[in-house]
Parts: sequence; structure tokens; C-alpha cells
Amino acid sequence: METNPITEIESNINVASEKIIAKDFKFYHVQLIPRIANLTHIHSDKCSICSENMKVVTELSLNVANLLNSSIQNRNTYDNTLSNLKSHLKNAHQYYPKSYFSSLYTFYGMIGGAIVGLLIFAIQLIDFKIGLLIFSAIGLFTGKIAGYYKDKRNEKNKLIL
Ligand SMILES: [Zn+2]
Repeated sequence: METNPITEIESNINVASEKIIAKDFKFYHVQLIPRIANLTHIHSDKCSICSENMKVVTELSLNVANLLNSSIQNRNTYDNTLSNLKSHLKNAHQYYPKSYFSSLYTFYGMIGGAIVGLLIFAIQLIDFKIGLLIFSAIGLFTGKIAGYYKDKRNEKNKLIL
């Protein structure tokens, strides 16, 4: 009988969780590995990169404790491997980390608002500091709200990593 790759990866992570200190486990998002494996598995029939990535994520689930417990270089290797897996899911299959758009749009909103504030200051309608403050705050909140709704929509469509 062929074992389910996701079950295998989950059990690898369970084993690893006993060897990794809780702080590292959380900091390095080790708990994301089964979720990444699951999403990669879903697409691996039709996507050759996901099909390759199934090997990568399986290997990662086996090596994670060694990588995190040995050297800085190995921690970086782990980090890069996980990032590659996540960015493929994001770029090719539109899975985004939780709150991804809230943060992104909040940032864009703040920058956009600050630019509007500066422009209005430039045509001398308002005081520099007040303009910058008010408009970047408006932009920030607009961005945060827009991002929040986009995150919610993604969550509803099960597109959260
Ligand atoms: Zn893929």
C-alpha cells in the first residue's frame, strides 16, 4: 500500500517538533510545512514545478530538525527552501500568506497618502507636517481596509497559505 505523502510529511514534522525548540519551531514557521505540502500536492498533477517541489518539501520535512539545529548556513538553506516553495505557490497558484494584502496595501496606502500630502503642500494649500500626517493616515487606513477585504475574500476562496 502506498502511503499518503501528506500523512508522511505530517508525521515527519511531528517527529521533528520534538527535536526543535519551540521558539525556532514558531520563528521558522515549521508548522507551515504540512500546509505547503498539501497545496503543492493538490497542484502536482498539472504543474511540473509542484511535482518537483513535492520531493523538496518531503526532504525538507525529514531534514528540518537537522537544518535548524546545526549551523547558521543550514538555517539559511532551510529558510530559502521554504521561501522558494511559498513563492511558487504565491506566484503560480495565487496562495497568499495570512494578512498579506492587509500589510501590503497598508504600506502602499501610507506611501500614496504621503505623496498626495506632499503634492498638496507643494501647491501651498496646507502646512507640510499636517499634510503629511493627515494624508498618510488616510492612505494607511484606506489601504488597511482594502487589504483586509482582499484577505477575507482570499480566505473565503481558500487561497490562504
Ligand atoms: Zn505549481
